Amino acid sequence: METLIPAVAIQKRVAEMGAQITADYPADEPLLLAGVLKGAWVFLADLARAIQRPVIIDFLHTSSYGEGKTSSGEAKLIRDLDTSIEGIHVLLVEDIVDTGITLDYLLRILNERKPRSLSIATFLDKPSRRRRPVPIRYTGFEAPDRFVVGYGLDFAGSYRNLPDLCALAEEEGQQTE
Ligand code: 5GP
Repeated sequence: METLIPAVAIQKRVAEMGAQITADYPADEPLLLAGVLKGAWVFLADLARAIQRPVIIDFLHTSSYGEGKTSSGEAKLIRDLDTSIEGIHVLLVEDIVDTGITLDYLLRILNERKPRSLSIATFLDKPSRRRRPVPIRYTGFEAPDRFVVGYGLDFAGSYRNLPDLCALAEEEGQQTE
């Protein structure tokens, strides 16, 4: 296991992102932070507390990579938001944008509900693997083209609780699908 971004650097960057988001949205207009489960929960918890204004928190859950490390090429909604988003600002909070398939899909279905605005905040951006263009408004860090774990990101359900962002060594993460 190799540490790529230590927790202290993550906390510093998330604080900057929170300050930027606080400055960008009018304080008197509702802002919904929509976390994409499962990977975004750690980032969302830290980001929400770095935003100095009222926010509403909700979650949605898409299908993901399953137990392995390769994308199925499709996204589907497993759990929808509880909140109606018509007329309000929505910030989709994601752990990592890889191929862009998940967020491309979510932007399409959420835009149909006519939010006041719909933007993306992602902890990591892995642009080398993009297959669908995705407009990202807030990026924490650019990720290398490696499989990363920690800070909410898993491999086969493990490692989400690591405070650092890490990369698995080749022999630790054999591809399972
Ligand atoms: P996309 O639809 O953009 O290809 O993939 C987004 C999802 O793929 C992320 O929310 C995450 O669950 C998963 N993913 C992509 N790259 C990685 C990675 O390097 N590590 C982990 N743990 N998950 C990844």
